[in-house]
Amino acid sequence: MVRINPDKPNGGITTKPEDLGAVLAAQRAAFNKNPNPDWAARKAKLEKLRELILGHEAEFVKAISDDFGHRAIEDTLISEFLVIQGGISHALKHTPKWMKTRKAPTAMQYKPAKNIIIPQPLGVIGIISPWNYPLQLAIMPLIGAIGAGNRAMIKPSEYTPRMSQLLQEVLAKGFSDEEVFVATGGVEVASAFSGLPFDHLVFTGSTSVGRIVGEAAGRNLVPVTLELGGKSPVIIDESADMKTAVARITNGKLLNAGQTCVAPDYVLMPEAKINSFAEAMIEQAETFYPTVAGNDDYTTIIADAHYARLQDLLEDAENKGAKIRTACDDDKQQLAKERRVPLTVVTETTPDMKIMQEEIFGPLLPVVASDSLDEAMETVQSGERPLALYWFGEDKKKRDKVLKESISGGVSVNETAWHVVQEDIPFGGVGPSGMGAYHGEAGFQSFSHMKGVFIQSKWSQGKNLFPPYTDKTRKMIGLMKKIL
Ligand code: NAD
Repeated sequence: MVRINPDKPNGGITTKPEDLGAVLAAQRAAFNKNPNPDWAARKAKLEKLRELILGHEAEFVKAISDDFGHRAIEDTLISEFLVIQGGISHALKHTPKWMKTRKAPTAMQYKPAKNIIIPQPLGVIGIISPWNYPLQLAIMPLIGAIGAGNRAMIKPSEYTPRMSQLLQEVLAKGFSDEEVFVATGGVEVASAFSGLPFDHLVFTGSTSVGRIVGEAAGRNLVPVTLELGGKSPVIIDESADMKTAVARITNGKLLNAGQTCVAPDYVLMPEAKINSFAEAMIEQAETFYPTVAGNDDYTTIIADAHYARLQDLLEDAENKGAKIRTACDDDKQQLAKERRVPLTVVTETTPDMKIMQEEIFGPLLPVVASDSLDEAMETVQSGERPLALYWFGEDKKKRDKVLKESISGGVSVNETAWHVVQEDIPFGGVGPSGMGAYHGEAGFQSFSHMKGVFIQSKWSQGKNLFPPYTDKTRKMIGLMKKIL
C-alpha cells in the first residue's frame, strides 16, 4: 500500500503508476465492508474536508501562485476557496434530503404494488483535474463523491506540482488512503489512472485528452463525467446596456488571466458598435489593472509553452489582417519575462485565423460582426457545442429564443461565468464540451446509483398473465390495451 510519509522531504511521494491498482483494490475492499455510510459518517467527512482545505488556505494560495509564476491572491480566494466553501455548505445542508429513499408513482395496472428509488453510493470515484483552478476542480467533484457516500482517488495536474503535493499532504492528515488518495506525477501516472476500473471517473481538462480518457474508461465500461473545454461565445444584443456588458465581460475574461474553461472566448455583436466596444474594453481593462507588468492583481500565464501559444495566435491573426488593440502600454520584454499577457482585443477577424478555431484560454478576445440574432445563432450552432454561452441584452423575446434554441453546457444572462458556481443548477458540457454534470444535487446523482425498486404486493394482477395462455389471458391483454 502506498502511504504518504510525513518525515520525507516535502512530505510526499510521486506515485508509481503500478501502485495505483493496489490503492483502488484497498479502497474497494474498505467500501465493500461499509457500502452505504449513514449521514453522520458523510457529514463528518465533509466537515473534515472543509477544515483541512480552509485550514491551509495560506499554504494553498502560495503553492498555486508559485506553480503559476504568480497567481493573484484574490483570484485564488474568489475562484477556489469561496467556491469550495459554498459547495461544502450546500452539500451539508441538502445531502440528507438527497440521500433519502424516495417514493415513486406506480401505474394503475401494477397497483397496489409500490415503486421506490434508493440513491446508493457507487464505490470508488476517480477524479482527474486540470491546472487552471487546481484546487477547486479537484475538490468540487470530491464533495459530490463524499456526499454520495463514496471513496475517491484524485490525480491533479502535473503543471501544478506544488499544489498537488500540498493537496496530497493535507488530505492525508485527515483521510486514510482507503478513503481519499491523491496520486501525484506526470502523464504516465494520469494515463495509468484513467485505465483503472473505477465505479465512476470524472475528468476535467481539454477535449483532446478527454477523448483519450473516455476511450480508456470505455475499455472498462467505467461511466464518465467529462468536463471539457471549447470556445464559449458572448452574444451582445443591440438592447444590451453596453457599460455593464463591458465591465462584466472584462472581468470574466481577465480572471486568472483568461485561463478559465468558461471564459468568454469571442464576442458576436452588431458591426456598427464593434469599435466603440473594443475601445471600451481596453479602457475597462486599464481601470481594473492600470499596469499588467508587476501587478500583483494580475495572474501570469502558467507556462512558457502556453505563453508562446498565445503569442502565436496573435501573430497568426495579425498576419492574416486582424486589427489588434492591447491594454496598458507595458514594456513587451518585461511582460514576456513575467509571462503576463494584457487584454488584447482582436477585430476584423476571419474564420481562417487560428484564434477563431482553437479555444483561446488566455486574455485575447476576438470580436466578430453579427448584425442579427439569427446570424449570431447560426455562427454558434455551426461550431462545436460550447461549454458556456453568454447573452447580454434586455429584449426578453430574443433572450428566450437564445435560451430555447442554442445548445451549450450552461448559460449566464447579462453576466459571464457565474452560472458555474450556482450549486442549485447542474454544471457540465454538451457534445465536445463534455458529458454528464456535477455540482449540488447533479453531482450527488452522478456519483450515486439511483436504484429503482419495485415492491410487489401480496395480491397481484400479474397472476392473470401466467401461462398456460388461455382466452382469459387474451381477454386480460385486451383489457390492459384499453386502459393504457
Ligand atoms: P489537459 O487535458 O491537458 O490535462 C487535464 C488532466 O489530464 C491533467 O491532470 C493531466 O495530468 C491529465 N492527462 C494528461 N494526459 C493524459 C492522458 N493521456 N491520460 C489521462 N490523463 C491525462 O488540460 P489542462 O491543460 O490541464 O486544462 C485546460 C483545459 O481544461 C481547457 O481545455 C479547459 O477548457 C478545460 N477545463 C474544463 C473545465 C470544465 O469544468 N469543463 C474546467 C477547467 C478546465
